[in-house]
Amino acid sequence: MPRESVLSFEEARHMVEEHASRLGPSSPAETVGLLRSAGRVLAEKVVADRDFPPFPRATRDGYAVRAGDLAQLPAILQVVKEIKAGAAPQDISFTLQPGEAAAIMTGAPAPPGADAVVMVEYTARQADRVEISKGIGGGDNIVPIGSEARRGDVLLPAGSRLGHAAIAVAASVGRTSMTVHPRPRIAILATGDEIVDVASAPGPNQIRNSNSYSLATQVSAAGGEPLILPTAPDEPRRLRELIEEGLTCELLLLSGGVSMGKYDLVEQVFDQLDAEFFFTGAKIQPGRPIVFGRVASASRTPPVYFFGLPGNPVSTMVTFELFARPVIEALSGLTPHKLVFLRARLKKDIQARTGLKRFLPAVLSGEFEGTEVELMDWHGSGDIAATARANCYVVTPPDREHVPAGEWVPVLLR
Ligand code: AMP
Ligand code: MG
Repeated sequence: MPRESVLSFEEARHMVEEHASRLGPSSPAETVGLLRSAGRVLAEKVVADRDFPPFPRATRDGYAVRAGDLAQLPAILQVVKEIKAGAAPQDISFTLQPGEAAAIMTGAPAPPGADAVVMVEYTARQADRVEISKGIGGGDNIVPIGSEARRGDVLLPAGSRLGHAAIAVAASVGRTSMTVHPRPRIAILATGDEIVDVASAPGPNQIRNSNSYSLATQVSAAGGEPLILPTAPDEPRRLRELIEEGLTCELLLLSGGVSMGKYDLVEQVFDQLDAEFFFTGAKIQPGRPIVFGRVASASRTPPVYFFGLPGNPVSTMVTFELFARPVIEALSGLTPHKLVFLRARLKKDIQARTGLKRFLPAVLSGEFEGTEVELMDWHGSGDIAATARANCYVVTPPDREHVPAGEWVPVLLR
């Protein structure tokens, strides 16, 4: 068996982040249509094909003016033009003179000579004159050329996840296709003599395999391509064969078999394979027995990382999010980011055991700034039903026995 190394949550997370920071995609990028790239990781940079905005853009409907003309109020100006969004160059081939205004619409180019746009709400129009009742500063309601970005500026760096705002940026520079990283293949191996496949009828003391399915869903969400292997029995030869099969992928996730029981064989088999272990536990609950390591693979170099995730279904889910996700993101080419917790006001007291950092299934409720969080009534790390009704985890520190209602507590969103 490997030497035991149980880290604090933060140490374990930093250990994973350090390894992840040296990983990247192992196969070449591919080019896909703009919308097909949504959710993928960008393998190139996206640059501005022109200045943003490309013309001095009015942000209000109203009148383009020279701000200095509004020193005395009300001011009466001569309306010399009307400028619509999409105006042709000849529509603004004049210079606004002192005492003049141009009616202008949101999204239209401000004409030369104008330095501000007065909102229509502060104006009264009579024939070709407009009375303006409110003063304005130079530059108000006009976005200058190139103030958001200059032509050639990098708008999206390589390694960005393509969410809806990034897709909007790509569309705005005329991209119809994008070069993205391939999804890494992630092997999933459930272990346990009591585990049967979802399609077969369980005996009285058997349990259907749910972990392979929660993990496959989490792998996909993290940007990976899950490969579910056949369930391994608690028997070293077959377990070793299936581990070796899993090592053809870029990362291997196992569930179960990492506790202290006589038939918890995962670490033993990896030890026989001369694996390197980075930790064999983290001071968290659920999920304390989590194992992180690396082992040589017959089919790929360099060695392949693996996680031995605890088999209790909630432990499997939580430890995936805390530790496995950053490795999958790195293999997907995503630029690393830190794990962040939000805070919400606790609705009811928490009594917690000390010694471990706890991630407790909870529900965010309320509305707007009145959001509150309350623990699920759950029956421990096997209670998937309660966890499925939760929408976050409340995080309690190892040294707090009692957290009173009303306190702002850290929350990990799901
Ligand atoms: P283990 O970590 O192997 O000691 O398993 C801890 C608990 O999780 C036991 O009650 C197992 O039956 C259960 N368990 C292990 N693997 C799975 C799985 N793939 N699906 C559902 N429950 C599991
Ligand atoms: Mg087991």
